[in-house]
Amino acid sequence: MARKVLVLGEVRDGALRNVSFEALSAGKVISEGGEVVGVLVGKSVSALGQEFIQYGASRVVVVEHAELAQYTSDGYSQALLAVIEEEKPEGLVFGHTALGKDLSPRIAGKLNSGLISDATAIEVAGGNVVFTRPIYSGKAFEKKIVTEGLIFATVRPNNIPALPKDESLSGEVNSLTVDIKDLRTIIKEVVRKASEGVDLSEAKVVIAGGRGVKSEEGFKPLKELATVLGGAVGASRGACDAEYCDYSLQIGQTGKVVTPDLYIACGISGAIQHLAGMSNSKVIVAINKDPEANIFKVADYGIVGDLFEVVPLLTEEFKKL
Ligand code: FAD
Repeated sequence: MARKVLVLGEVRDGALRNVSFEALSAGKVISEGGEVVGVLVGKSVSALGQEFIQYGASRVVVVEHAELAQYTSDGYSQALLAVIEEEKPEGLVFGHTALGKDLSPRIAGKLNSGLISDATAIEVAGGNVVFTRPIYSGKAFEKKIVTEGLIFATVRPNNIPALPKDESLSGEVNSLTVDIKDLRTIIKEVVRKASEGVDLSEAKVVIAGGRGVKSEEGFKPLKELATVLGGAVGASRGACDAEYCDYSLQIGQTGKVVTPDLYIACGISGAIQHLAGMSNSKVIVAINKDPEANIFKVADYGIVGDLFEVVPLLTEEFKKL
């Protein structure tokens, strides 16, 4: 059954985030051959419309307004609900990002719709669109179908491959004028934490340190390895609590969820709360002195040894490639 699906593109620092293209790819599956319409919301975002089309949107609807320069749940909801009213879609897809996690329940509530959040895979099977999503902090996966009404889902970054960009494609980018008003939240200032290098949530390679790195200084070899591999540095809560690094690096149940192609856990024991944030990584390498450490249960490759010896050796070897 062909459906019209709206896919929200997420813009950061004037560029579309990767998860927007992955959401488009999910939208294609849900549409079952129907129309996939990209939606861009912001202040000056229409220039990104063609890129969204080159990744698979049939056309793009843009809502621009001075009040949408920064994300607020209130402002974005007004914009999105106006597009939904106009387009009357049968499917809706957002990225399962901080923005998507905030906005999707609000939109679902306003539409009186269900929501399948944090989907890690989507397929059409037995005449249904079947979503896979983690439960019990990633210990198990459930499969879900929507039996009636809007198919509304958020997709976990780095899980559903984006379609390749086709620069020969072009299409309509149309503006919808929406009167954004009565906002209950006004962003006065955005204060950014200084972050080094690659964005942890979108990194293809993550080198994570735990309490085993022993100090802030102990993160240095991990940073060097991350630089050589073009990756980002992450951490366990143990390392954050011990003040070896900032909490913005924390991965896990109460931190960030990452799904890189390669995750190298250094001096991390593998507590269930940590696994909740990284066990979906494609290839997991664990370096730990303790051969009984729980992290080895989820690792594809395990190195029993001292991280301060192993990590510099890996860095030297990767430099040769
Ligand atoms: P440890 O458990 O102390 O492990 C350190 C490891 O380093 C050991 O396995 C040791 O063998 C190894 N090691 C030591 N020295 C070396 C060396 N030189 N070379 C190699 N290996 C070495 N944790 C998270 O990570 N993320 C979360 O989001 C999170 N949320 C939580 C939420 C709740 C409600 C609770 C209760 C806990 C949460 N935790 C979370 C904490 C979690 O339970 C663990 O305490 C934490 O993950 C442990 O961090 P760690 O593995 O770095 O430290």
